[in-house]
Amino acid sequence: KAKEGGRNTIRFFDIAVQYAIEINARLQVALHGGIARNEFRLFCQAQVGRDKEVTGGEILLRWRHANGDWISPAQFIPLAEETGSIHEIGHWVLLKTCETLVEWSNDPKLSPLTLSVNVSARQFIKPDFSQRLLQMLVITGVNPARLKLELTESIFAIKDPNIVSHMQSLCAQGIVFALDDFGTGYSSLSYLKCLPFQQLKIDQSFVQGVPEDSDSCAIVQAILSMGHSLGMEVIAEGVETEAQHQFLLMHGCKAFQGFHFARPQALPDFCAMRHDQLSHPC
Ligand code: C2E
Ligand code: MG
Ligand code: MG
Ligand code: MG
Repeated sequence: KAKEGGRNTIRFFDIAVQYAIEINARLQVALHGGIARNEFRLFCQAQVGRDKEVTGGEILLRWRHANGDWISPAQFIPLAEETGSIHEIGHWVLLKTCETLVEWSNDPKLSPLTLSVNVSARQFIKPDFSQRLLQMLVITGVNPARLKLELTESIFAIKDPNIVSHMQSLCAQGIVFALDDFGTGYSSLSYLKCLPFQQLKIDQSFVQGVPEDSDSCAIVQAILSMGHSLGMEVIAEGVETEAQHQFLLMHGCKAFQGFHFARPQALPDFCAMRHDQLSHPC
Protein backbone atom coordinates (compact mmCIF):
# COMPACT_ATOMS: atom_id res chain seq x y z
CA LYS A 1 0.00 0.00 0.00
CA ALA A 2 2.88 2.28 0.85
CA LYS A 3 4.35 1.53 -2.55
CA GLU A 4 1.13 2.50 -4.23
CA GLY A 5 1.06 5.76 -2.31
CA GLY A 6 4.62 6.38 -3.38
CA ARG A 7 3.75 5.79 -6.98
CA ASN A 8 0.79 8.15 -6.73
CA THR A 9 3.03 10.75 -5.19
CA ILE A 10 5.43 10.42 -8.08
CA ARG A 11 2.61 10.65 -10.57
CA PHE A 12 1.26 13.76 -8.83
CA PHE A 13 4.74 15.27 -8.88
CA ASP A 14 5.13 14.49 -12.59
CA ILE A 15 1.83 16.17 -13.33
CA ALA A 16 2.79 19.23 -11.30
CA VAL A 17 6.13 19.51 -13.09
CA GLN A 18 4.49 18.92 -16.45
CA TYR A 19 1.96 21.63 -15.66
CA ALA A 20 4.71 24.10 -14.69
CA ILE A 21 6.58 23.33 -17.91
CA GLU A 22 3.46 23.93 -19.97
CA ILE A 23 2.75 27.24 -18.23
CA ASN A 24 6.32 28.38 -18.85
CA ALA A 25 6.14 27.33 -22.49
CA ARG A 26 2.92 29.31 -22.92
CA LEU A 27 4.40 32.35 -21.19
CA GLN A 28 7.45 32.16 -23.43
CA VAL A 29 5.23 32.23 -26.50
CA ALA A 30 3.17 35.08 -25.04
CA LEU A 31 6.29 37.13 -24.20
CA HIS A 32 7.22 37.13 -27.86
CA GLY A 33 5.56 40.15 -29.42
CA GLY A 34 4.65 41.62 -26.02
CA ILE A 35 6.36 44.87 -26.96
CA ALA A 36 4.38 45.21 -30.17
CA ARG A 37 1.21 44.57 -28.18
CA ASN A 38 2.22 47.28 -25.65
CA GLU A 39 2.14 44.88 -22.70
CA PHE A 40 5.19 46.20 -20.83
CA ARG A 41 5.34 49.11 -18.40
CA LEU A 42 8.25 50.79 -16.68
CA PHE A 43 7.91 51.14 -12.94
CA CYS A 44 10.31 53.20 -10.90
CA GLN A 45 11.42 52.89 -7.27
CA ALA A 46 13.00 55.92 -5.63
CA GLN A 47 16.56 55.86 -4.34
CA VAL A 48 17.28 58.30 -1.52
CA GLY A 49 20.23 59.91 0.22
CA ARG A 50 21.01 60.48 3.90
CA ASP A 51 18.29 63.11 4.34
CA LYS A 52 15.77 60.94 2.48
CA GLU A 53 16.13 63.24 -0.51
CA VAL A 54 15.36 61.43 -3.76
CA THR A 55 18.49 61.15 -5.88
CA GLY A 56 17.15 58.89 -8.59
CA GLY A 57 15.26 55.70 -9.20
CA GLU A 58 15.54 52.10 -10.34
CA ILE A 59 13.54 51.08 -13.38
CA LEU A 60 11.65 47.84 -12.72
CA LEU A 61 9.83 46.19 -15.59
CA ARG A 62 6.23 44.96 -15.37
CA TRP A 63 4.44 42.74 -17.86
CA ARG A 64 0.71 42.69 -18.34
CA HIS A 65 -0.18 39.39 -19.92
CA ALA A 66 -2.99 39.42 -22.49
CA ASN A 67 -5.24 37.66 -19.95
CA GLY A 68 -4.99 40.71 -17.69
CA ASP A 69 -2.56 39.32 -15.08
CA TRP A 70 0.48 41.32 -14.03
CA ILE A 71 3.48 39.02 -14.12
CA SER A 72 6.59 39.64 -12.03
CA PRO A 73 9.97 40.12 -13.70
CA ALA A 74 11.34 37.45 -11.35
CA GLN A 75 9.11 35.08 -13.35
CA PHE A 76 9.38 36.33 -16.93
CA ILE A 77 12.98 37.61 -17.13
CA PRO A 78 14.44 34.08 -16.78
CA LEU A 79 12.06 32.90 -19.53
CA ALA A 80 13.01 35.83 -21.75
CA GLU A 81 16.67 34.93 -21.19
CA GLU A 82 16.04 31.34 -22.26
CA THR A 83 14.29 32.25 -25.50
CA GLY A 84 16.43 35.25 -26.36
CA SER A 85 13.50 37.72 -26.13
CA ILE A 86 15.60 39.44 -23.45
CA HIS A 87 17.53 41.26 -26.17
CA GLU A 88 14.44 42.90 -27.63
CA ILE A 89 12.84 43.54 -24.25
CA GLY A 90 16.06 44.86 -22.72
CA HIS A 91 16.61 47.17 -25.68
CA TRP A 92 13.09 48.53 -25.27
CA VAL A 93 13.63 49.17 -21.54
CA LEU A 94 16.86 51.05 -22.24
CA LEU A 95 15.28 53.09 -25.03
CA LYS A 96 12.26 54.09 -22.90
CA THR A 97 14.59 54.98 -20.02
CA CYS A 98 16.79 57.17 -22.24
CA GLU A 99 13.68 58.88 -23.65
CA THR A 100 12.43 59.46 -20.11
CA LEU A 101 15.73 61.04 -19.05
CA VAL A 102 15.62 63.32 -22.09
CA GLU A 103 12.07 64.41 -21.18
CA TRP A 104 13.20 65.04 -17.61
CA SER A 105 16.17 67.14 -18.71
CA ASN A 106 13.87 70.12 -19.32
CA ASP A 107 12.20 69.80 -15.95
CA PRO A 108 14.11 71.30 -13.00
CA LYS A 109 12.41 68.92 -10.55
CA LEU A 110 13.40 65.80 -12.44
CA SER A 111 16.58 66.71 -14.32
CA PRO A 112 19.00 66.05 -11.40
CA LEU A 113 17.77 62.46 -10.99
CA THR A 114 19.55 59.35 -12.26
CA LEU A 115 17.83 56.19 -13.52
CA SER A 116 19.21 52.69 -13.01
CA VAL A 117 18.33 49.91 -15.44
CA ASN A 118 18.77 46.18 -14.79
CA VAL A 119 20.71 44.46 -17.54
CA SER A 120 20.89 40.65 -17.70
CA ALA A 121 24.32 39.09 -18.12
CA ARG A 122 22.96 37.35 -21.23
CA GLN A 123 21.96 40.68 -22.64
CA PHE A 124 25.22 42.42 -21.77
CA ILE A 125 27.50 39.83 -23.34
CA LYS A 126 25.78 39.97 -26.74
CA PRO A 127 28.64 41.30 -28.92
CA ASP A 128 26.65 44.28 -30.26
CA PHE A 129 25.16 45.34 -26.90
CA SER A 130 27.54 48.20 -26.14
CA GLN A 131 27.59 49.39 -29.75
CA ARG A 132 23.78 49.58 -29.87
CA LEU A 133 23.67 51.36 -26.54
CA LEU A 134 26.28 53.89 -27.66
CA GLN A 135 24.16 54.54 -30.77
CA MET A 136 21.10 54.95 -28.58
CA LEU A 137 22.87 57.60 -26.51
CA VAL A 138 23.56 59.59 -29.67
CA ILE A 139 20.10 59.12 -31.19
CA THR A 140 18.18 60.06 -28.04
CA GLY A 141 20.65 62.75 -26.94
CA VAL A 142 20.50 61.54 -23.33
CA ASN A 143 23.13 62.68 -20.84
CA PRO A 144 24.93 59.34 -20.18
CA ALA A 145 25.89 60.46 -16.66
CA ARG A 146 22.21 60.13 -15.70
CA LEU A 147 22.11 56.47 -16.72
CA LYS A 148 23.22 53.59 -14.48
CA LEU A 149 23.40 49.97 -15.54
CA GLU A 150 22.86 47.28 -12.89
CA LEU A 151 24.63 43.99 -13.48
CA THR A 152 24.65 41.05 -11.07
CA GLU A 153 27.61 38.95 -10.09
CA SER A 154 26.49 36.37 -12.67
CA ILE A 155 28.52 38.47 -15.12
CA PHE A 156 31.67 37.20 -13.33
CA ALA A 157 30.83 33.60 -14.17
CA ILE A 158 31.17 34.36 -17.88
CA LYS A 159 34.71 34.07 -19.08
CA ASP A 160 34.57 36.61 -21.86
CA PRO A 161 37.57 38.94 -22.19
CA ASN A 162 35.39 41.53 -23.97
CA ILE A 163 33.32 42.28 -20.88
CA VAL A 164 35.94 44.66 -19.45
CA SER A 165 36.41 46.56 -22.68
CA HIS A 166 32.64 46.86 -23.23
CA MET A 167 32.22 48.22 -19.73
CA GLN A 168 35.12 50.61 -20.24
CA SER A 169 33.79 52.02 -23.49
CA LEU A 170 30.42 52.72 -21.84
CA CYS A 171 32.10 54.23 -18.76
CA ALA A 172 34.14 56.47 -21.04
CA GLN A 173 30.84 58.01 -22.16
CA GLY A 174 29.86 58.64 -18.53
CA ILE A 175 27.57 55.67 -17.89
CA VAL A 176 27.79 54.35 -14.32
CA PHE A 177 27.82 50.64 -13.42
CA ALA A 178 26.22 49.22 -10.28
CA LEU A 179 26.80 45.71 -8.96
CA ASP A 180 23.34 44.44 -7.98
CA ASP A 181 22.48 41.86 -5.29
CA PHE A 182 26.05 42.07 -4.03
CA GLY A 183 27.10 39.17 -1.83
CA THR A 184 24.67 36.57 -3.15
CA GLY A 185 26.48 35.33 -6.25
CA TYR A 186 29.92 34.63 -7.59
CA SER A 187 31.63 37.13 -5.31
CA SER A 188 35.22 37.10 -6.27
CA LEU A 189 36.62 40.28 -4.83
CA SER A 190 39.31 40.48 -7.50
CA TYR A 191 36.57 41.37 -10.00
CA LEU A 192 35.82 44.51 -8.02
CA LYS A 193 39.34 45.60 -8.78
CA CYS A 194 39.38 44.92 -12.50
CA LEU A 195 35.81 45.81 -13.52
CA PRO A 196 34.70 49.46 -13.44
CA PHE A 197 31.80 49.32 -10.97
CA GLN A 198 31.14 52.63 -9.21
CA GLN A 199 28.26 51.43 -7.04
CA LEU A 200 27.64 48.34 -4.87
CA LYS A 201 24.08 47.36 -3.98
CA ILE A 202 23.92 45.43 -0.71
CA ASP A 203 21.48 42.61 -1.34
CA GLN A 204 18.17 42.85 0.45
CA SER A 205 18.64 39.44 2.08
CA PHE A 206 21.40 40.94 4.26
CA VAL A 207 19.49 44.18 4.92
CA GLN A 208 16.46 42.16 6.04
CA GLY A 209 18.43 40.57 8.91
CA VAL A 210 19.56 43.90 10.34
CA PRO A 211 19.70 44.79 13.22
CA GLU A 212 18.55 41.54 14.92
CA ASP A 213 20.78 38.98 13.21
CA SER A 214 24.44 39.46 14.11
CA ASP A 215 25.73 37.72 10.96
CA SER A 216 23.69 40.01 8.70
CA CYS A 217 24.97 43.00 10.66
CA ALA A 218 28.58 41.87 10.22
CA ILE A 219 28.13 41.31 6.48
CA VAL A 220 26.42 44.68 5.95
CA GLN A 221 29.15 46.50 7.90
CA ALA A 222 31.87 44.66 5.97
CA ILE A 223 30.34 45.53 2.59
CA LEU A 224 29.95 49.18 3.56
CA SER A 225 33.51 49.46 4.79
CA MET A 226 35.02 47.57 1.86
CA GLY A 227 32.99 49.46 -0.75
CA HIS A 228 33.79 52.85 0.73
CA SER A 229 37.49 51.96 1.04
CA LEU A 230 37.48 51.09 -2.65
CA GLY A 231 35.96 54.49 -3.39
CA MET A 232 32.59 53.07 -4.39
CA GLU A 233 29.13 54.30 -3.53
CA VAL A 234 27.27 51.69 -1.47
CA ILE A 235 23.47 51.56 -1.60
CA ALA A 236 21.34 49.34 0.62
CA GLU A 237 18.37 47.75 -1.11
CA GLY A 238 15.24 46.29 0.44
CA VAL A 239 15.16 48.70 3.41
CA GLU A 240 11.76 48.12 5.03
CA THR A 241 12.01 49.45 8.58
CA GLU A 242 13.26 52.50 10.47
CA ALA A 243 15.49 50.19 12.56
CA GLN A 244 17.24 48.97 9.41
CA HIS A 245 17.58 52.55 8.18
CA GLN A 246 19.11 53.69 11.50
CA PHE A 247 21.59 50.80 11.56
CA LEU A 248 22.69 51.60 8.02
CA LEU A 249 23.02 55.34 8.75
CA MET A 250 25.08 54.57 11.84
CA HIS A 251 27.48 52.49 9.75
CA GLY A 252 28.02 55.17 7.15
CA CYS A 253 25.58 54.13 4.44
CA LYS A 254 24.70 57.12 2.27
CA ALA A 255 22.19 55.69 -0.21
CA PHE A 256 19.01 53.71 0.34
CA GLN A 257 16.21 51.99 -1.52
CA GLY A 258 13.26 50.06 -0.18
CA PHE A 259 9.58 50.00 0.76
CA HIS A 260 10.42 52.11 3.85
CA PHE A 261 11.01 55.07 1.50
CA ALA A 262 8.95 54.24 -1.58
CA ARG A 263 7.34 51.35 -3.43
CA PRO A 264 7.96 50.89 -7.14
CA GLN A 265 5.44 53.14 -8.93
CA ALA A 266 4.30 53.44 -12.53
CA LEU A 267 6.61 56.02 -14.10
CA PRO A 268 3.93 58.74 -14.53
CA ASP A 269 3.01 58.36 -10.83
CA PHE A 270 6.68 58.62 -9.85
CA CYS A 271 6.98 61.90 -11.79
CA ALA A 272 3.71 63.27 -10.35
CA MET A 273 4.92 62.46 -6.84
CA ARG A 274 8.16 64.34 -7.41
CA HIS A 275 6.19 67.42 -8.46
CA ASP A 276 3.74 67.19 -5.55
CA GLN A 277 6.43 66.69 -2.92
CA LEU A 278 8.57 69.54 -4.14
CA SER A 279 5.76 72.05 -4.51
CA HIS A 280 4.22 71.29 -1.08
CA PRO A 281 7.18 70.56 1.17
CA CYS A 282 5.96 69.29 4.53
P1 C2E B 1 16.44 43.74 -8.35
O1 C2E B 1 17.11 44.49 -9.45
O2 C2E B 1 17.30 43.31 -7.22
O3 C2E B 1 15.27 44.71 -7.90
C1 C2E B 1 14.83 44.83 -6.57
C2 C2E B 1 13.56 44.03 -6.34
O4 C2E B 1 13.22 44.15 -4.95
C3 C2E B 1 12.35 44.56 -7.09
O5 C2E B 1 11.52 43.45 -7.38
C4 C2E B 1 11.69 45.48 -6.07
O6 C2E B 1 10.32 45.66 -6.27
C5 C2E B 1 11.94 44.70 -4.80
N1 C2E B 1 11.99 45.56 -3.61
C6 C2E B 1 12.31 46.87 -3.52
N2 C2E B 1 12.26 47.32 -2.25
C7 C2E B 1 11.90 46.25 -1.49
C8 C2E B 1 11.69 46.08 -0.09
O7 C2E B 1 11.82 46.99 0.74
N3 C2E B 1 11.35 44.82 0.33
C9 C2E B 1 11.21 43.79 -0.55
N4 C2E B 1 10.86 42.59 -0.06
N5 C2E B 1 11.39 43.91 -1.88
C10 C2E B 1 11.75 45.14 -2.35
P2 C2E B 1 10.88 43.24 -8.82
O8 C2E B 1 10.43 44.55 -9.39
O9 C2E B 1 9.89 42.13 -8.71
O10 C2E B 1 12.11 42.76 -9.70
C11 C2E B 1 12.73 41.53 -9.45
C12 C2E B 1 13.99 41.38 -10.26
O11 C2E B 1 13.70 41.29 -11.65
C13 C2E B 1 14.95 42.55 -10.12
O12 C2E B 1 15.70 42.43 -8.93
C14 C2E B 1 15.78 42.40 -11.37
O13 C2E B 1 16.82 41.46 -11.16
C15 C2E B 1 14.79 41.82 -12.36
N6 C2E B 1 14.34 42.88 -13.29
C16 C2E B 1 13.40 43.83 -13.09
N7 C2E B 1 13.28 44.64 -14.18
C17 C2E B 1 14.18 44.17 -15.08
C18 C2E B 1 14.58 44.58 -16.41
O14 C2E B 1 14.09 45.56 -17.00
N8 C2E B 1 15.55 43.82 -17.02
C19 C2E B 1 16.15 42.76 -16.40
N9 C2E B 1 17.09 42.09 -17.07
N10 C2E B 1 15.82 42.37 -15.17
C20 C2E B 1 14.86 43.06 -14.51
MG1 MG C 1 18.37 45.94 -9.66
MG1 MG D 1 18.90 43.79 -6.26
MG1 MG E 1 17.40 40.69 -7.42
